[in-house]
Amino acid sequence: MNTGRLEVTSLQLDTPVQFVRGVGPVLADKLQTLGIATVGDLIHYFPFRYEHRPQSQAIGTLRLDETATIVGQISRVRTRGSFGKQVLIANVQDATGTCMIRWFNSPYLHDKLGPGVLIAATGKVSQYRDLGCMTNPKYRIIGNEPLSLVVDAEQFDPVYPANASISSRQIARFIAAALPEVVDQLADPLPDELRRARSLAPRRTAVARYHLPTRVDDIEIARRRLAYDELLLMQLAVQLKRAHVRRSQQASPIRISEEIDRRIRARFGFQLTPGQESAVAEIAADLGRARPMRRLLQADVGAGKTAVALYAALAVIANRRQVVFLAPTEILAEQHHHKICECLAGSRVRVDLLLGNMPRKARDTILRSLADGKTNLVVGTHALLEESVEIPWLGLVIVDEQHRFGVRQRAKLRAKARDPHYLVLTATPIPRTLAMTVFGDLDVSTIYDLPPGRQPVETRLIRSAESSQAWERVRRELRAGRQAFVVYPLVERVESLPLKAAAEEVEVLRRDRLAGFEVELLHGQMPREQKESVMARFTAGEVQALAATTVVEVGIDVPNATVMVVHHAERFGLSQLHQLRGRVGRGAHPSLCLLLSDADNETALARLSVLCRTTDGFVIAEEDLRLRGPGEVVGQRQHGMVEFTVADLARDMDLLEMSRADATALIAEDESLSAPKHRILRIMLVERFGDSIALVDVA
Ligand code: ADP
Ligand code: MG
Repeated sequence: MNTGRLEVTSLQLDTPVQFVRGVGPVLADKLQTLGIATVGDLIHYFPFRYEHRPQSQAIGTLRLDETATIVGQISRVRTRGSFGKQVLIANVQDATGTCMIRWFNSPYLHDKLGPGVLIAATGKVSQYRDLGCMTNPKYRIIGNEPLSLVVDAEQFDPVYPANASISSRQIARFIAAALPEVVDQLADPLPDELRRARSLAPRRTAVARYHLPTRVDDIEIARRRLAYDELLLMQLAVQLKRAHVRRSQQASPIRISEEIDRRIRARFGFQLTPGQESAVAEIAADLGRARPMRRLLQADVGAGKTAVALYAALAVIANRRQVVFLAPTEILAEQHHHKICECLAGSRVRVDLLLGNMPRKARDTILRSLADGKTNLVVGTHALLEESVEIPWLGLVIVDEQHRFGVRQRAKLRAKARDPHYLVLTATPIPRTLAMTVFGDLDVSTIYDLPPGRQPVETRLIRSAESSQAWERVRRELRAGRQAFVVYPLVERVESLPLKAAAEEVEVLRRDRLAGFEVELLHGQMPREQKESVMARFTAGEVQALAATTVVEVGIDVPNATVMVVHHAERFGLSQLHQLRGRVGRGAHPSLCLLLSDADNETALARLSVLCRTTDGFVIAEEDLRLRGPGEVVGQRQHGMVEFTVADLARDMDLLEMSRADATALIAEDESLSAPKHRILRIMLVERFGDSIALVDVA
């Protein structure tokens, strides 16, 4: 019963938002569209920026180009211009001078702003004749108090995410109404001693100040506390889940004798780099335990992850277990299969390739061989994950290029065997802090060095005006027997986009830029046989250039390819461009990467220039994180994991590390968080992550 009486009782955090002063049932429905149902939701709906209104100053002290607030009385108003292009001009006066204010196309103001009205206005100061002037300032009508009494204090007006049915201003008003009534009901999830040790503001203060800061410093102090809380909850969730997995899963330990180690190494035609060696050591230690390895191996393109993965695979096979090697695309699965077979030529290890649309019979044969345990190593794409695939002695799963795979697919595979070891390879170096978040449930090995003899790829940003010379260089490389990739953002042209597309441009290349050379098209939507044959001819050197899409982004290994041309380079992410560039510079010859772009906005140019400056994938990933945010860097893969309201991974590295250490300590002390001082934390954790964490069954 929504009687009027309810409105006079005081608000609680779980009171429906409709009872906040000024809301009512209609606006409550609209707030619902923003996910705000209760008073608690409302006060946890945070601003994403602030509009600064400086403290008011005397008109006589205004300075050109500064943003200022003035308070004064309108002495004169007039309108200029004709319909559709009107400007309202007011002279505003205080004891020290006159300022002119101009409003464009706001005829309705005429009725409100008569002579004698007192207003406060904030805007950038320009000059008109010999007067200071503001154009379309923010303003507030003050009324008719005597001028000498009015001082407008500095303010930071919160700006909230809003939508068409409800405005930021309305939200701000409701929050200002509700906050004083309920702020004291907010409990602090942090034990007091921890909060003090970390010099964090009390949660109550943080919530209040983040909405209504009175000084600029308030904002950051409040933000840090709220961000810390978000990060701590996330770290707790990740670590609890991981502890749970550790407890509940068992794997067969893999023993690596000196003999096994020697025989594996003899398969490589090279010495492992120090980085590869330490990754191998970490993996060997994991495999030797009776609980499953969960390890991410990250290394820049070309660092030699495959060799490390193959070491693990062969060790597991020597222990009579089966290995699955998952690749993100069929092209890559084939390539891995081919290279692994080459490497294992003459051995008794049986390696099979399983793809999505194989002939029925061939597929059945492989499935039977897997089920019988005859196949030791199977390479494939997600087709391997179908229910019908039985791998009874599965001991290790290797996933190349993790973030092409969804989290759900991963779970599916995990359920197949009892508990296989698990190794993920990624060539998108992820900054350490981000890896801790996104791959929180994985241990991380990182290879920082490259095999000897690599030559850095010369990278240049090319504007269309200079493209003729650039193409001349490409032709020179091809004439010298090298090969090239030419990458486009699209397969087919799209009417509404001014972009070149591979399917069309392949003709242009053949006719014009690369006339006389063998040029072929390669993209993900081609039938498999066709892709295969193009790749085979490219690998054999019969095709000299590929007009391609980003199918060549990952893994393709043709050492004779020395040129990478990327059209509309500004359309690609930095890490993606770095991946593309990684397709060249893999052999003995110097290589070249040409980024074609006519972008003229500063951010785009700054991003591209990072690539010209460095070939270090980690530096590039950090920049990408800073310039585009974590969602873009890791893909929208781990939904929710990298999405925070207040925390910002690009800038809160210190908080992330802090929260990680604190989460570890909290769990070590009280794993089920059942101590009274952890009660609030526990409630917040369950509210945020629900059943998806193991906390529930720890209790
Ligand atoms: P990634 O998968 O990390 O991009 P790959 O495993 O494809 O790199 O290795 C890139 C190339 O370097 C391959 O041709 C591989 O044979 C070669 N390679 C790997 N490790 C070494 C090493 N230690 N010394 C020399 N060459 C190596
Ligand atoms: Mg690789």
